[in-house]
Amino acid sequence: MTKFEDRLKEGEFVCSECQKCKKLVWPPNDYCSRCFGKVKWRPVSRTGKIIEFSKKDDTVFCIAEFENEIRVMGSLECTIMPVIDQELRLVKCSYNGNEEFVFQLK
Ligand SMILES: [Zn+2]
Repeated sequence: MTKFEDRLKEGEFVCSECQKCKKLVWPPNDYCSRCFGKVKWRPVSRTGKIIEFSKKDDTVFCIAEFENEIRVMGSLECTIMPVIDQELRLVKCSYNGNEEFVFQLK
């Protein structure tokens, strides 16, 4: 299990940031993809926006973007149909062999 998955399991959504060149390393990794420096782990903002969504049966799935760079897929709890670019917030994350993210409209 990676550090990212480990923290996710505890309900924490974190990303890796290079200690040397400050690049946000995404997908998360222990080393920077630009300069191979070591990263530090920090929480990701829980407010993002909808990039794409689709509805299957009664569940809406969406790709959400955080901090203009970090994209993850999850389910969206909503009573109305969302629109692209609409703001959402992360309400739950977990890891159970797969990454699990649950969002709500803001
Ligand atoms: Zn770097």
